[in-house]
Amino acid sequence: MNHDKAYSRKNKVLLIYTGGTIGMGRNPMTGALEPLNFEHLIENLPEFAYLQTDIDTYQFTPPIDSSDMSLRRWAQLVRIITDNYNKYDGFVILHGTDTMAYTASALSFMLENLTKPVILTGSQLPIGQLRTDGKENLVTSIELASIKDEEGHAMVPEVCIYFNGRLLRGNRCTKQNADGFDAFNSFNYPHLCDAGVEFSFNKHYILKRDFTKPMIPHFAMDPNVVVFSLFPGIQQNIVRHVLEAPELRGIVLRSFGSGNAPQKPWLQQLLKEATRRGVTVVNISQCVAGSVKMGRYEASYQLKEAGIVTGYDSTVESAVAKLMFLQGHYTDCNVIRTLMNRNLCGEITK
Ligand code: ASP
Repeated sequence: MNHDKAYSRKNKVLLIYTGGTIGMGRNPMTGALEPLNFEHLIENLPEFAYLQTDIDTYQFTPPIDSSDMSLRRWAQLVRIITDNYNKYDGFVILHGTDTMAYTASALSFMLENLTKPVILTGSQLPIGQLRTDGKENLVTSIELASIKDEEGHAMVPEVCIYFNGRLLRGNRCTKQNADGFDAFNSFNYPHLCDAGVEFSFNKHYILKRDFTKPMIPHFAMDPNVVVFSLFPGIQQNIVRHVLEAPELRGIVLRSFGSGNAPQKPWLQQLLKEATRRGVTVVNISQCVAGSVKMGRYEASYQLKEAGIVTGYDSTVESAVAKLMFLQGHYTDCNVIRTLMNRNLCGEITK
């Protein structure tokens, strides 16, 4: 496809800087990387002036390491996007890589019927360093956030992560590499676009939106969830303490392979009691690729019997965000369980 037409009018993108390695510099006292303000980033990016797109910026004060991302800050991002929704063609969020997949997942649920691109990106090396991956990631994300299709609609009307030449669905992403430039992958879903010399869009896999509907922002998230990984030798007393925490409303249970668990009566009993108390237990696999199929083996049949819901091929990040989102909106655990089973915005394959 020829995008020249799409650029004939200057598109507008809002660039939101939350922090992360991309804008960091070394603290001369400690030697550790710490977030610097947006001016530092722009000074190191002369290419900014040559972009074909009009860019306005918004920065978190102070910018943060994404390890400090929080539900309040997710709501802040939703507020910024909502308040500016009609003024821009798309949004780019500069974000640390460590929790980027959580934020992308959360935003995909919080921005219902999103019809514009919201692209998260960042880098493994700060923008001031010679071999930085930040420039390409940022410049390409801005281009992707402003590209339109033949009908003038956003080409990618969904929350995505762009990194190292790949545009990925946000709620399918996992950080896979702490050092390499290929920080992210979506093991259970194809890339939405590969950015080589030209953009190669996988149109078939991009969400189909109703562009006549308004975007509905959601702000409420309930953090009373836990991620709980099974392993051989897991101890009853420790599991009991976790499952009996009074505030607990949701558990992301990371099981073995296609959804299996040790066949211990006490484990089944504790899980059954938790589901009976109204806790939603979602079964996802510890494998990065593939899907849970409860009942395929005897070792997962018992989980089904205990009232556990399948998380299909969900990432852990997406399952956590979806539980927080549903718990923030519904009190009835049956509604939460039903909706956990439903594909809300491309997060699971059913
Ligand atoms: N610790 C950094 C962060 O997540 C890592 C990064 O940006 O790559 O903010």
